[in-house]
Amino acid sequence: MSVFKDFLHNLFYILTPIFLYVTLWSGFGFQRNRKLTKLFFFALCISSMALSMTFPVVLNNGVTFDLRHIPLVIGTIYGGAWMGAALLVFQLSYRVVLVGTEAVFFAIYFSTLVYLVYLVFSKHYHAFSLKKKIWSFNLVLLAIVTTTIAFPSTIFADSRSEIAFYMVQFFAIYVPVFFLVIYTLEKILLNDRLKKDLRKSEQLRLVSELAASVAHEVRNPMTVARGFIQLLHSNANLTENEKKYMQLTMSEIDRAQMIISDYLSLAKPKDAKLQTINVAFTLDKVRHTIQAYALMNNVSVFLDVPSNLKIKGDESELTQVVLNLGKNGIEAMPRGGKLFLSAVHTGQHIRIKIADTGSGMTKEEVQQLGNAYYSTKEKGTGLGLMVSFSIIRSWGGHIQVNSKLGEGTEFVIQLPVVSASKDETKTKEPVMS
Ligand code: ADP
Ligand code: MG
Repeated sequence: MSVFKDFLHNLFYILTPIFLYVTLWSGFGFQRNRKLTKLFFFALCISSMALSMTFPVVLNNGVTFDLRHIPLVIGTIYGGAWMGAALLVFQLSYRVVLVGTEAVFFAIYFSTLVYLVYLVFSKHYHAFSLKKKIWSFNLVLLAIVTTTIAFPSTIFADSRSEIAFYMVQFFAIYVPVFFLVIYTLEKILLNDRLKKDLRKSEQLRLVSELAASVAHEVRNPMTVARGFIQLLHSNANLTENEKKYMQLTMSEIDRAQMIISDYLSLAKPKDAKLQTINVAFTLDKVRHTIQAYALMNNVSVFLDVPSNLKIKGDESELTQVVLNLGKNGIEAMPRGGKLFLSAVHTGQHIRIKIADTGSGMTKEEVQQLGNAYYSTKEKGTGLGLMVSFSIIRSWGGHIQVNSKLGEGTEFVIQLPVVSASKDETKTKEPVMS
């Protein structure tokens, strides 16, 4: 029974720091100071390591067991190589202080192995999803344990069967504890990120609402100005040239109005209305909106859509999805290229394709798409695709990604059809920038 009690004590030393971090540190808002937070995190790791080593679980045969490797691994993964190294040195020195130099080489071998393996692992770890994190974390542990049983570690310690027994015990106890710790830590980190994000999106919403009202205000005087120019235009005493200039002025004002209404339709508050959407119309609007961005990046945009494709959905949401994908395509072509927006009607579905001739992605990268915060861009949010995927899914459609590294990427959105005749009049119209 006292073994169990000892174990609960040890667990307490490991879990309390997490609790302290959440309530004290982030609770009081200290986490904004990065350096101090790192120091605090380090102090928590060291103290839980020291406590767990000082009051270990004493098994019936007098052998002791503790959770000292948990702070070591967590410190290495979340605190970085230096913090891990400091924890490793502390752990080994404190061990000598506590129990002397008996079997010290095995301890050095094992702790260093744990440190190094998780250090390498930490380079990939942070890009994983939570499920994958937990799985791979324990697989790595299994690998360490198997290596230690099979490897020449017997030079350092007594007998292979003893090591094997110890390792199996170690694995059985560490797996659930790791599970608990990582799950809790990741949830806390996710919460922090969500809070930050909420603030950012709140700010964005504010700005976009204000922008919408400004755009609206600008539209009115422009309408008035256009009206008067039109009046002047019908005046008979004007020369041909003067008439031409006025015509130009009016068409430019029309263009400005169009751009404004495009942006207005984006900024409009959304209460998803299900309506019948003309795909050609929407894609053309998107092309207009990203034209300037494409121009800046030396990208030509091509549009190829039959004029009568219709789907059921919310127009501003479809605009948002295609705009997101188109923008990503342009951003994948820093040295210029071609962006194709197209749609076809196949059987019961409509397929909208957004293809670029950009950098492309590896299979692993494609698998990451749609995960929140997955971004390879310096100023990326990694939210665009997540939102786009969820919109498409909510319509009962799905997105397929085909990508080749160095050649380009295509996103194929498949949506259920509402009604469409077989009229295949296409508006093929390359827009060179
Ligand atoms: P963000 O654009 O803010 O980075 P997204 O969710 O839109 O976020 O995209 C996530 C990541 O997916 C991008 O950072 C990029 O690495 C990758 N990606 C998306 N679209 C493409 C594409 N067309 N070509 C290459 N990589 C892409
Ligand atoms: Mg994006």
